[in-house]
Amino acid sequence: MSIPAEVAKRRTFAIISHPDAGKTTITEKVLLFGQALQKAGTVKGRGSGQHAKSDWMEMEKERGISVTTSVMQFPYRQSLVNLLDTPGHEDFSEDTYRTLTAVDSCLMVIDSAKGVEDRTIKLMEVTRLRDTPILTFMNKMDREIRDPMELMDEVENVLKIRCAPITWPIGCGKGFKGVYHIANDEIILYKSGQGHTIQERRVIKGLDNPELDTLLGGSVQDLRDELELVQGASNEFDREAFLKGELTPVFWGTALGNFGVDHMLDGLTDWAPTPQPRQTDDRQVTATDEGFSGFVFKIQANMDPKHRDRVAFLRIVSGKYQKGMKMHHVRIGKDVNIADALTFMAGDRSAVEEAYPGDIIGLHNHGTIQIGDTFTQGEKMKFTGIPNFAPELFRRIRLKDPLKQKQLLKGLVQLSEEGAVQVFRPIDNNDLIVGAVGVLQFDVVVARLKAEYNVEAIYEHINVATARWVECKDAKKLDEFERKCSLNLALDGGDNLTYIAPTMVNLNLTAERYPDIILHKTREH
Ligand code: GDP
Repeated sequence: MSIPAEVAKRRTFAIISHPDAGKTTITEKVLLFGQALQKAGTVKGRGSGQHAKSDWMEMEKERGISVTTSVMQFPYRQSLVNLLDTPGHEDFSEDTYRTLTAVDSCLMVIDSAKGVEDRTIKLMEVTRLRDTPILTFMNKMDREIRDPMELMDEVENVLKIRCAPITWPIGCGKGFKGVYHIANDEIILYKSGQGHTIQERRVIKGLDNPELDTLLGGSVQDLRDELELVQGASNEFDREAFLKGELTPVFWGTALGNFGVDHMLDGLTDWAPTPQPRQTDDRQVTATDEGFSGFVFKIQANMDPKHRDRVAFLRIVSGKYQKGMKMHHVRIGKDVNIADALTFMAGDRSAVEEAYPGDIIGLHNHGTIQIGDTFTQGEKMKFTGIPNFAPELFRRIRLKDPLKQKQLLKGLVQLSEEGAVQVFRPIDNNDLIVGAVGVLQFDVVVARLKAEYNVEAIYEHINVATARWVECKDAKKLDEFERKCSLNLALDGGDNLTYIAPTMVNLNLTAERYPDIILHKTREH
């Protein structure tokens, strides 16, 4: 198949939601539809006898949060769908932010008993930066939920996006009967207890169908009245507005009961954008442009305990990946042969023969790849907009067994490649400083150091307010700065020079004193 035909087939999306809204459950059902899993229920390994991929992270189960991110590819009807999972906990928002730069649309999942929650608001703000198209799934219709009209109003008012109901719920909780598909003028009936299978759609054509009267009895007139009201009061679906991120198609259902997820997938594959262009420092790159290009948005160490390797996740922007091809690693200016990129079919890793725009491939990383790196077929350009944020929390990390210093440093450098924490080595002493954006990251680092590098470490308090990446075009001025401020200088995991400020006042004074030194809040490689 030609590249344009492959591009036309692809949809790359992520799910955004507040914890517990049902993201994991929807992921399971989506994969079930993709036939990728024989039986739903293996994503978190809940009672299914199969284990999730992230067993190393006992903490994940303890705290009931999903810490790892993964990529899953599956076919649905005529399309090939890439689903990028994002961590649910807010301490991992950086990782989520970068993952959202690698998708072309998002599914927003809302717990219909609760409505719009704060984490959803934050994630929607991130999607607004690029006007990413949003689909909405109102979940948990098998429970007593809030008034559907009120829920849509809340989405419109709080999230500032217009809602266009594609389906409309008939009842809820024990009385949940199914949905009315507005455009198709058909009722799709719900049957409980079918959550683990793909159900054949049971459809009644037409709102005026007498079969409905038999089925719903007296309440059918209420439904007809309600729908008249809904259609009068809400927006019609408008694909242009959807693609601009101004309007969201809304679907209703229950992920647990596996009802409605397929209606959403129909919408996703019919309407969501094919792989979109991305900006570089030089030009905009379109999916059908000639020549391979892509960017690394995520790095994960020790993904598979059996392999003990580090994987860089690269989103393909243009061209075609072919096994054994030569790629140009722009930042370090080197050509590399990539013979064994990975793909992530429903969480299982296997070597890919070829991959296309919108796809994510995993590159084995031996420490040369950093988040934000661009790979091309020779062109010297750099994709923009994939930042590393300056951490806001700092601790000194110390070993229980001082003989393992080398192992500690190796672990810290490798874990910091993932971007969630940063490690700083002061130039003037032997301290090791860990910086993180969220507190939970500190616990994760210690747990992973133990599990993956066999070192036991503890934290100590340290007086650091913030860190800045140092840049200076003038070598002499940089030299002077390095000499005079050496007490505050450190190297990060990628050996980049950073300024470690004990207080914000100190940072401001330094910035004033050395106007030629640029102190960056984010590191964009
Ligand atoms: P996540 O934190 O967003 O990934 O949410 P999960 O998928 O883990 O779901 C959180 C809880 O809600 C779990 O106990 C699920 O079984 C439950 N849940 C998910 N979808 C539904 C649903 O449609 N109906 C009901 N009643 N419970 C659901």
